[in-house]
Amino acid sequence: MSEIPTYIDFEEYSEHVPAGIPSAVQQATNRFVGGRAARVAELPQWEQLRQIASDIRQHTIENMDVYLTRLEEKVKAAGGNVHWAQTAEEANRIVLQIAREHHVKTTVKSKSMATEEIGLNHFLKDAGIEAIETDLGEYIIQLAGTGPSHIIVPAVHLKKEEIAQLFSEKLDINAPTDPIELARIAREILREKFLNAEMGISGGNFLVAETGTLVMVTNEGNGRMCTTMPDLHVAVVGIDKVIPDWESLTVFLKLLARSATGQKLSTYTQFITGPRRAEGEFGPKEFHLVLLDNGRSNILKDRVGRDVLKCIRCGACANVCPVYKNVGGFAYGSFISGPIGAILTPQMLGTQTARELPFASTLCGACADVCPVKIPIPTILLHLRRRVAQGDEFAEPTLPAPIRISAGLVSFALAQNWLYRFGTRLLPAIMSVFKRGDWIPNAPYPLSRWTKARPLPPFTANFRRWWMKVRSAKQKDLAR
Ligand code: SF4
Repeated sequence: MSEIPTYIDFEEYSEHVPAGIPSAVQQATNRFVGGRAARVAELPQWEQLRQIASDIRQHTIENMDVYLTRLEEKVKAAGGNVHWAQTAEEANRIVLQIAREHHVKTTVKSKSMATEEIGLNHFLKDAGIEAIETDLGEYIIQLAGTGPSHIIVPAVHLKKEEIAQLFSEKLDINAPTDPIELARIAREILREKFLNAEMGISGGNFLVAETGTLVMVTNEGNGRMCTTMPDLHVAVVGIDKVIPDWESLTVFLKLLARSATGQKLSTYTQFITGPRRAEGEFGPKEFHLVLLDNGRSNILKDRVGRDVLKCIRCGACANVCPVYKNVGGFAYGSFISGPIGAILTPQMLGTQTARELPFASTLCGACADVCPVKIPIPTILLHLRRRVAQGDEFAEPTLPAPIRISAGLVSFALAQNWLYRFGTRLLPAIMSVFKRGDWIPNAPYPLSRWTKARPLPPFTANFRRWWMKVRSAKQKDLAR
């Protein structure tokens, strides 16, 4: 079987980016930002809700073992099956085994970031099982052969004209650019698939430990069809999605849709507790819940980084992020993009693999301001930058030793008053050797890493001298 793609290095990034991403992304994200602001303004208790949600998530991740055990008991008591997957590979194998036991040839899928994370479609395809995405955005990117570029709006980077062109090419039709018509075309094709699929696959927004209930929050009816029409339903959900009880759920439901799309509530909120109970009822005959770890337990050990597990995947951080809005989701190289991707991917795949992501931020803090569960994203970014540069108990440093030593020396020098003064006198003299005109075109290592791409302005100003001059001029003015 071919390898599951997990991360695209920045160097390869440009090969994967369709042209014109920023304008499509900016239009959509600006709409969401406006909608969110309007809904938030309607709720005077918004800040209290955020704090309560943050506290619930904190409590849950600190007691995850308790809630996951309770969840497993309740799902089994309701007639469902629970599987534990340590890795992406294991989760894929579990789903494949269930499919093979039931002679599944075709499966219909509801949108799920967990299955994107493990590369399930790819894995099933290699095993000869067709996995069809039925969320419109996911259907579009499946046709395009790419991954999602936004957590909640997978095809946000495409304009209606580009989607029409894609439909025309891939479906061999003359597709119009009218979005309603495009949705109708997709719906007609997918109806057939719903009717014939032997298995439905979904993710889940929350897992309520109190009753063993899978909660799905969606805007298209496809989620319900995937989880009720086939006789077999498999849900792949990260262990971090567990919440204690229904009272907690009411808090998250108030926050999620408002933060994500600026809706009061999503069109569909679905509660699934086990398979159907008796003949004549709707729903699958078998329900399987695959609880996915895939690095989450390791993240839990890091007292700073683990706040990422509080995430409810609303996408609000991406919508306000100046970096995301300008580069789009593919630049993050991973299944999950935006500020949440910048703190999750390096922790999940390791800073040796995704070492650039913690630096893909201006640290403006807009993400933390809108996050409904108050994840301190800039703090975690800085924490991960330190891990990349210096290493810690979780990872080796990725910066070469000369750079780390130089940074240490600079840091030491800046902290010593006399050394700093001496350096400000010495540096212009050293730099004059490399100066050509007003610039330094080729500096020695490690500054050559900079001058390879652009010239360096020579160090000319002496802040202390300048400050003394300004201060004495001011004093003279005052004395007059
Ligand atoms: S980090 Fe916060 S804002 Fe971003 S997706 Fe997660 S919950 Fe939403």
